[in-house]
Amino acid sequence: MITTTVAGSLPKPAWLAEPEKLWAPWRLEGAELIEGQRDAALAWIKTQEDAGIDIVSDGEQFRKHFVHGFLEQIDGIDWGRMTTMGIRDDRYDARVPTVTSAVRRRGSVHGAGAKFCRERTGHQLKFTLPGPMTICDTIADAHYGSRPEMAMAFAGLLNQEAREIEALGIDVIQFDEPAFNAFMDQVPIWGIDALHRAIDGLTCKTAVHICYGYGIKENIAWKATLGDEWRQYEEFFPALNASRIDQVSLECADSKVPMSVLGLLGDKEVLVGAIDVASLTVETPEKVASTLRAALEFVDPERIIACTNCGMAPLPRHVAEGKLKALGAGAALLRKELGG
Ligand code: ZN
Repeated sequence: MITTTVAGSLPKPAWLAEPEKLWAPWRLEGAELIEGQRDAALAWIKTQEDAGIDIVSDGEQFRKHFVHGFLEQIDGIDWGRMTTMGIRDDRYDARVPTVTSAVRRRGSVHGAGAKFCRERTGHQLKFTLPGPMTICDTIADAHYGSRPEMAMAFAGLLNQEAREIEALGIDVIQFDEPAFNAFMDQVPIWGIDALHRAIDGLTCKTAVHICYGYGIKENIAWKATLGDEWRQYEEFFPALNASRIDQVSLECADSKVPMSVLGLLGDKEVLVGAIDVASLTVETPEKVASTLRAALEFVDPERIIACTNCGMAPLPRHVAEGKLKALGAGAALLRKELGG
């Protein structure tokens, strides 16, 4: 009971890419880049194992960004046609490529990375993919003319990729959907249908991660406008609870999300975010345990997986390492308290 995992991304080592920066360009290329990505993933797997994390991740060391890392291997996207687009309901600007014809997966995107990690850890292994709605919110469209239609096209490609990764022995495939929190009303209408298309036929555990974004200044400023109680999750959790997704990952640490919303996920495993990724302060194990304890009021311990609020990619490496240790230790503290 009270197992542990991470939301997904972890910082790139300074020798691989510029630290504390999203979309940081690689500092290596060709065969050296592949070797560097592997070394970085291996280092993070070891760090997670040592910290007592049960379900480990590659830390997304094989991709520059969680959405564009996937899109780079997809045909039908013109990278010469870059646009500045307000993303997550215009919360911040991103430079994005344009869909100019029907999208097609050129081949395996993350297979080699997933295989490498699978062969090097006996722990359960989780792999993350961008969710279809979030992809559509991080790319310009000059072909489909409708977000739901484009989302279904991408969901089909994600499904091909997910099936391949599952066959390599990955235990959990998670789709990252921060856009769910920006377009709450669209989630029950087409967001979940697209996720269902993405998980079609999978037998491994499936998860969806919905957060209030990386700890970057635009997100922090947005959160300041959301008031004392963040009830965004409430609008679509009933639909999500009725979905075929096994696990829901959400933000709980230092967040104004009322814990009572977890009560809406009675049929799901809940990845309770107990590490604040917007703060450089490393939590104490006691603080992690207290966040998890608060979730216990609404979720049985068997369904709680202690997690980080979001990816830790933009954090300094030593801070992320400290937070992983705190997560493992905090969950252990609570397990002991519960007699497990
Ligand atoms: Zn997140």
